[in-house]
Order: sequence, then structure tokens, then C-alpha cells
Amino acid sequence: MTNKTIPLADLRYASRVPHIPARLDAPTGLLADTLGRPLRDLRISVTDRCNFRCSYCMPSEVFNKDYAFLPQTSLLSFEEITRLAKIFVAHGVEKIRLTGGEPLLRKNLEVLIEMLAKLQTPEGRPLDITLTTNASLLARKAQALKDAGLQRVTVSLDGLDDAVFRRMNDVDFPVADVLGGIEAAQKVGLAPVKINMVVKRGTNDSEILPMARHFRNTGTVLRFIEYMDVGATNGWRMDEVLPSAQVIERINAEFPLLPITANYAGETAERWRYVDGGGEVGVISSVTKAFCGDCNRARLSTEGKLFLCLFASQGHDLRALLRGNYGDDQLSAAVGHIWQARTDRYSEQRAALPADTSQPESSGKRVEMSYIGG
Ligand code: SF4
Repeated sequence: MTNKTIPLADLRYASRVPHIPARLDAPTGLLADTLGRPLRDLRISVTDRCNFRCSYCMPSEVFNKDYAFLPQTSLLSFEEITRLAKIFVAHGVEKIRLTGGEPLLRKNLEVLIEMLAKLQTPEGRPLDITLTTNASLLARKAQALKDAGLQRVTVSLDGLDDAVFRRMNDVDFPVADVLGGIEAAQKVGLAPVKINMVVKRGTNDSEILPMARHFRNTGTVLRFIEYMDVGATNGWRMDEVLPSAQVIERINAEFPLLPITANYAGETAERWRYVDGGGEVGVISSVTKAFCGDCNRARLSTEGKLFLCLFASQGHDLRALLRGNYGDDQLSAAVGHIWQARTDRYSEQRAALPADTSQPESSGKRVEMSYIGG
């Protein structure tokens, strides 16, 4: 049976202009949503474009030559992104992840990183600034990114075999160049480099052991991500999900593993270490082991829409406030109000469904991952 991708209804505009509370309370950094989750991690998409067409994120049947990507004028400027980031930091954000599409396609991204690197938490600590990339441009840009203040990178790599890699990302890009980008990042000190492999049963799960063998003893952290029903276009099916428990089983059979504790609350990856000291691997199991309970992540789209969950179908249009001559105190109060009302826990709801139902009802089509970043 072939995957049927679903034509994309234009979702980018499914958002509402935020309400500004009458009382403009100053941010305390202790904001919590309806499930008591703080706001700690902001993912900022800086472009909706990408030079890959990964089938689980941006299938080429939909994101083809006729697809209307966002015009430059509708993207948030670096000044607007930094202004918003400052407001989120005052509410408790400590980590900023730059995403896309492919963030390195955004021109002069180093300038934005320099601006963000100047921000500090209310306690005076620097922010943890990282970036997720397909590494196609990383070898060329690593030094400039580091000099601008980037601390770490996460590289998406779905296999070492060129043919399998091509089956996942649908472009003719050599794995060797991605590996070159990883090496360049390590060389300039953008470490530890994390490697994310999305595992699609029947397409690239044969690459799990070759990837583990390749990245052991390299100082990188390899993570395996369960294939997710993100967006509305990737034709997701539950039988193409390889549960993380099976991934760990496969690796453990060749290289014994032991579980290790999370680095911090809200960390998405479950961590394991090689008994023989060969390093660390992780699994991100949104489908079989939901982690919504301490999800402290918010996502900002390229156009300034705030989404409270990767599987959301509605955003909050902060750009309308940014370009509507509202003050920072009003923007801050609006952000606080949105987060405090947050109830999202999609993966938990999916996990609670009877076996014959794979996805929860949602109030609209889910936003595309390429629009808000993974
Ligand atoms: S499904 Fe939504 S609420 Fe749950 S962990 Fe993912 S982003 Fe967070």
C-alpha cells in the first residue's frame, strides 16, 4: 500500500490576535500553564523554506514548485524576533532553539544569533542558544555561527547509506557532506553535537545499527525519534512507527546499554549510555511514551505566530501586536495570558486512545512542522 499524502489546506493563517489583559502585570519568570508546566524553551522558526524534502515533514508532492512559500515581508525581522525573545526570557525561557524549515537558509543568521546571545535571564545567566539543521550548509557556516554566540547544534541525519538517506529526504545530497558538517561543528566547538534520526519502520530502520556503530566514541549524542503524525501532509500510519523500546533492544543486543537520568526537567530524549564507555544515545518517543507532563516548550512560527504544541492547529498572532504599536508590557501580558491558559497534551491524548483509533480528534488540521520547527 503506498503512502497517500494529503493536499495541504493553507493553514498558515489559522490564528487569532491575542487578547491583552486589562492588568499589565510585570513578568515574574514563574509563569505556569493549567498543568503547572513552566515556560522554559522557545523554538523559533526563522524560515519556512528547506532544501530537503523529508517525507515525514515536507513531502515533495505537497511542497513542490507550485507551493507558495512565505514572502520576505511576512517574516519576522531579526529585531522583532529579538524583541519577542526578550519578553519570553522575562517569563522564564532559558533555552532558545532556532529552527525552520532549514534555518541556515535564512540570510545573515549570525546577526540574529549575536542579538540573541546578548540576552540574559532575569538572574543574569546567558541563554542556552542552539539550532537544528540538516547540516547541508554547516561546514561552511560553523565558525561564523560559533563566533556569533551559538553554543550547540543538533543535526538531522536519517541514515548513512546514500540510497536510504535519499528515500527519507527525497533530494540528491551526499551523506558525506552532512558528516563533513558535523565534523566542522565539532572542530569549532559547537558541542556536544546531537544527531537526530527519525526512524520510519520499513524505510530506514535498517540504519539504526550502522548509525550507532558510526557515532559511538565520537563525543556526539545520537537520538532516535519515533515517526510522528505531525502536520497534515505526511500520510502518517501507526504501522510505520518503530517503538523506541525496539530501537533500544536492537542496539543493546550488540552494545549493552544502561539508562541514565535526564539532564533537566522537560528533556524530550530518554538517555542511555554504552556500558563499555562508548558514549550516549537517546530515544524520543512521542508516540509510545508521551512526555507532555513536563513539556515546557513554546514555538514561534516564521511569521510570529505562537503555537503551544507541535500538534496544535491554532496559533496566536503576536506579529499583529508587534506591528500594531503595542508596548512590551502589553505584549508581555498577552504572552503570559496565553501560556497560563495552555492545556495542550496531544501525545498523551493520542496514547490514551483505543487501539483501533490512531489519532485524536482535533479542532482543525494540525500545523506543519516545517512551519513551526520540530
Ligand atoms: S505533544 Fe505537545 S504538549 Fe505533548 S510534549 Fe509534544 S509539544 Fe508538548
